[in-house]
Amino acid sequence: MKSHIPGFPRIGAGRELKKALESFWKGEISERKLHETASEIKAENWRIQKESGLTHVAVNDFSLYDHVLDTALMFGFIPERFKRITDPLDLYFAMARGSATKDIRPLSMKKWFNTNYHYLVPEISSLSAVGLNPAKPVLEAKEAFRSGFNPKPVILGPITFLSLCEADGCSPWDFTEDLTAAYIKLIESLSPYCEWIEIDEPLLASDMSKDAWLNFIPVHRKIKDSTDVRLMIASTCGDAGDNTELAFETGYDAFHTDLTKTDTFTHITNHMPDHMLISAGIVDGRNIWKTDCRKAYTNLEQIASVIGREKIIVSSGSSLLHVPVDLTYETDLQADVKNKMAFAVQKCSEIAELTKAFEEECVSQLPEADYHHPKSAPVIYDESFLSRNSSRKKRKEIQTRTLNLPVMPTTTIGSFPQTKEIREQRTRFKNGKLSSDSYEAFIRKQIESVISLQEELGLDILVHGEPERNDMVEYFAEYLDGFAFTKNGWVQSYGSRCVKPPIIHGDVSRPSPITVKWFKYAQSLTAKHVKGMLTGPVTILQWSFSREDIPYADVCAQIAFAIREEVQDLEKNGCRIIQIDEAAFREGLPLKKADQEDYLKTAVKCFRIASSGISDMTQLHTHMCYSEFNSIMEHIDAMDADVISIEASRGGMKLLEVFKKYQYQGDIGPGVYDIHSPRVPSSEEIHKLIRQALEYISPDQLWINPDCGLKTRNNEEAVPSLKNMAKAASVIRAETTKDSVAG
Ligand code: GLN
Ligand code: ZN
Repeated sequence: MKSHIPGFPRIGAGRELKKALESFWKGEISERKLHETASEIKAENWRIQKESGLTHVAVNDFSLYDHVLDTALMFGFIPERFKRITDPLDLYFAMARGSATKDIRPLSMKKWFNTNYHYLVPEISSLSAVGLNPAKPVLEAKEAFRSGFNPKPVILGPITFLSLCEADGCSPWDFTEDLTAAYIKLIESLSPYCEWIEIDEPLLASDMSKDAWLNFIPVHRKIKDSTDVRLMIASTCGDAGDNTELAFETGYDAFHTDLTKTDTFTHITNHMPDHMLISAGIVDGRNIWKTDCRKAYTNLEQIASVIGREKIIVSSGSSLLHVPVDLTYETDLQADVKNKMAFAVQKCSEIAELTKAFEEECVSQLPEADYHHPKSAPVIYDESFLSRNSSRKKRKEIQTRTLNLPVMPTTTIGSFPQTKEIREQRTRFKNGKLSSDSYEAFIRKQIESVISLQEELGLDILVHGEPERNDMVEYFAEYLDGFAFTKNGWVQSYGSRCVKPPIIHGDVSRPSPITVKWFKYAQSLTAKHVKGMLTGPVTILQWSFSREDIPYADVCAQIAFAIREEVQDLEKNGCRIIQIDEAAFREGLPLKKADQEDYLKTAVKCFRIASSGISDMTQLHTHMCYSEFNSIMEHIDAMDADVISIEASRGGMKLLEVFKKYQYQGDIGPGVYDIHSPRVPSSEEIHKLIRQALEYISPDQLWINPDCGLKTRNNEEAVPSLKNMAKAASVIRAETTKDSVAG
C-alpha cells in the first residue's frame, strides 16, 4: 500500500443519501431503492479514490446512518427493548431514531471525539451476548473487489467500541474476550477480498481509561496473531502522542496516525518496530483548505530519514467524513477564497500527488503554497476588555433593584417554532421572489405574534423569537466580514442531518449592527423586558470552518470583538437583558486533559471580551446545551455571566449536583422541559422538576425556562408546554412564599 484515506463522506455529492433516507422514512421509496442509492454512492466514492490515484479504496466507511450503530449491530448488541422488532432495517432505524408507533426510545447520541459528527451510543447489559453478523463489511469488500478496486475495509476497533458503550449492570470489559474472538472471525471473513484491513482506534488520541489501556495490547496481539491479512492500527482523531507506544506493541503491520497538527516526529521515529509501516496522515481531513504540499513533503522526508522511504504510506489524518464532497460544485464562491480550498475529492488528489512526488523524490512537482492567506496582526487587548465594572454580587443587587423581576422568573431560550411558513418565506426572499420590504413586514408580524403569545402566557422576560434566523451561527456570519458561504458544502452531523458550516477566510469584523433593529421592534411592543439574543464567539468559531494561518485564539478574539460591538449597540438601544449563547462551549473541549486548560482560558477570555462592555445594570445571560460541567465548573464561573441556562430536564436535574458541591454565585436556569421531544409535559411534571431543582439551587438563584430554543418544535407542542411551564412556576411561587412565611 502506498496511499489511502481512512474514509470518504457518505452523504453523496448531492446529498443523495439524505434524500433517499428521508423519502424512505416517509414511505415514498422502497427499501430496494434505498439500498440502490447507497450502492451508487459507495461505487462513486471508490471510483473517485481510484481515479485520484490512491492505491487502495476505503470500504465499510459507508453507513446508512452511523458506523458505531453498524458495529453494535454486527456484534449483536441489541438492547432488550428493540428485540420485538424482527425486520432488520426496521430494527436498524428504530435503534437510530426510536419508534413512535412502538413507543421505543432510540440509543442516545454523542459527539464523535473532537469532531462535529454524532454517533449512537451502544448499550450493553448483563443480558447482552456477543454475536457476529459480518454481512455488511463482507459484502462491501466483495463488491469492491469484484469491481476491480483494491479494497481496504475500515473497522471500528474493539477498544474504542467498548469504551463508547453505555453499560447497565455490567462492565463493557466483561465482553472483551468474546468480542476479540468475534473480531478474529470477522477478519477471517474479510480476508479473501483484501490485502489490508484498517482497524480504527480513535481512542488513541485521548486520555485512555485504565481498562482501555490494559486491554489494548493483549486484545490487538490476539487479533494480529490470528491472521495473515495485513493489519493497520489507526489513530484517526488526532495524533496518538504518548499512546503511540501502545500501537507499536500490537504487532500490526502498519500504524496510521494524524500528523496534521504535529511538527516533531520523534515519538514515531524513535521506537517504531522494524517490521511496521507508518501511514502518515498529513493531509487534513478536518478542514477545507488546500494542503501545503511542499511542507507535507518535507515532513515525510523528515520521517523517512530515520525509518526509510519504503516504510511510508501517505494518507489524510482522519476520515474525510468531516469535509464536504466536491469543491467543483461551488461555482459562486469568490475566486480568491476558492483557490485556497479543497474538499474530499480534491484532498484525495493531493494525497495521490504527494505520494507520486515522494516516490519520485521530486518535490518540484508539487505546487508552491502561494494560496496562503495574508497574515493579519494579532488582536491586542488589555484586562480592561475582560471585566465588568463590579462583582457579580454587586451587580445582582443593582439588577434586582432596577429590573423589577419576580422571584424565579420565567423566560425562554430564544427561538420560537420555525414554522413551515417562516421557512418558505425566507426561501422566497433568498431566491429573490419576495422583496426585502415584504419579507421584513412578514418578520415583524411573526415578532408581534410571539410577543403577544408570551404576554398571554404571563412569561416574565420575553424574546422576539428569532424568526429572521436560519441558523444561530450562519445568521451572524452572514452579517460579519471575513466569512464566505458555500452552496453545497454539506457535512454529515448525524444520520440524514447535514450542516453547511460558514468559512472564516479573513479577519472578522462587524460592519454594522445585526440584531438591533429586531430587538427594538420587539421591545416597542411590550412593557416587559425583551432579551437581546446573540451567538457567542466560541460557538461561532466551533461551528465554522476556520482559517488556520493565525492562532485559534486570535480568530476567536476577532469574533469576540465583533459581538462586543453588537452587545454595546443593543445596550445603547435600551436592551437591559442580553443573552449570549455558547451552545458549543463545552463541545470544543480538547480530548486530552493536557490541552484543555489552554482552550478553556481562551474560550472564557473571548466570552468576556464579547460580554463585558456593558454597565452593571444590564443583565448578562448565557445558554449552554451541554450541562456536564463537573470538570470545568470554575471556567463556567469565570465567564462571569449573571444568569446561565442549561439543559437538565432529561436527567431529572441530577446534573445540578455540581452546583451543590461548587459554590456558584450566579443565577441558574436549568431547563425544566425537554424541547428535544415532541411530548407536551404536564404542569405537575414541570412542577416536580422545579422542586427537584430547588434541592440544589436556592429560590433566589433559580430561573424557570425550557431546555433549549423552540425552533425545532411546532406551535401545537410549544404553546401548551409553555403554558404548563408558566402554571408550574406560579404554583411554585405561591408555595415558596407560603414556605418562607411559615418558616
Ligand atoms: N437562542 C438559541 C435558540 O433558542 C439557542 C439555540 C441553542 O442553544 N442551540 O434557538
Ligand atoms: Zn441549547
